[in-house]
Amino acid sequence: MRGRATANQVCSASKNRTRQAHAADSSPPATHRRRKRALAISFIIFLLAAASTRLDLEPKADARAASARQSEGARATFDGERALAHVRRLVEFGPRPAGSDALKRARGYIKGELKSYGLKVSTDEFRAKTPEGERRMANVSAEIKGTGDDFVVIASHYDTKLYKEFRFVGANDGGSSTGALLEIARVLSYAPRGGVGYRLVFFDGEEATCAEWDECGKEGSPDNTYGSRRYVARLRERGELKNLRALVLLDMMGYEKLELGRDTMSTPWLVDIVWKTAAEMGYGREFASHPENVGGDDHAPFLEAGVPSLDIIQLNSYPFWHRPEDTLDKLSARSLRAVGEVVLASLPRIGARLKEEGLKGETGRR
Ligand SMILES: [Zn+2]
Repeated sequence: MRGRATANQVCSASKNRTRQAHAADSSPPATHRRRKRALAISFIIFLLAAASTRLDLEPKADARAASARQSEGARATFDGERALAHVRRLVEFGPRPAGSDALKRARGYIKGELKSYGLKVSTDEFRAKTPEGERRMANVSAEIKGTGDDFVVIASHYDTKLYKEFRFVGANDGGSSTGALLEIARVLSYAPRGGVGYRLVFFDGEEATCAEWDECGKEGSPDNTYGSRRYVARLRERGELKNLRALVLLDMMGYEKLELGRDTMSTPWLVDIVWKTAAEMGYGREFASHPENVGGDDHAPFLEAGVPSLDIIQLNSYPFWHRPEDTLDKLSARSLRAVGEVVLASLPRIGARLKEEGLKGETGRR
């Protein structure tokens, strides 16, 4: 994140056989030949048996792997400790601003994890002109196909804000949502296919390179949301924007005292579905009813393109936002699990709503 509304902001058997053959030399020739023939036949039978065993083994091994995956899939629920372990790994890379080697290593970790879940992963590398000069950036996306072309994006930024005056590792800001998104990807990799598809997208360059969110932006070229703006532009170029039905964005959702407000920029029906699901799951305290004034985040370019979008974020009540104290000890596995479980439970409801809408006709996407 973003601009707060206020200014603060993946062999010995052959030896034996030779000995038996020599012992047979003293026997009459016919017996000798019979024995030789019998030996040869046994050897052929042995070879055939060995070959058929091998042919048989492979499908059995595949079936075992598939059934192990299915039974694991049945147990696949969001694991807060796993998500937190991802955040720990990310934080260990150090400060991860756009264009840095540390972010490149973080990207390698994210891609390796996604591939280990059997997901198809793609990377979109691009150059962005920032007030700090040109920067190399890259969005990472993993795809879970649905029955048709329509899809929902679940996203997070994975860069951290650049600070020269102190060490900023962004455990909550950049880290928490990236760790949670990886765990959501793992659980979704086991989900039965059908309905709308999912794309798990990790945006680069969400953070402003200047100190403040709006400080160095120009009309039509803000100094923030580089990755998400690039993502929407690429979808438009490829003619895929019409198939993007909704965005669920995660940002700063791992604080141990989790209290998420309802982002005022987000699409109300999406907020309603997710907050209602949370209340039903007993997460009414974490998904609170107060409005959350965010002032801009990676959902902005999607909203501008007419895509229903939701930002799940705790900004104003997170005391360590853009502070050197935004470290791993401020997070809890329970908070990560609360959001992970709620998002996963909300997805089929969002899908149902989109299906209803699809029957009613198109929405105004640009
Ligand atoms: Zn930030």
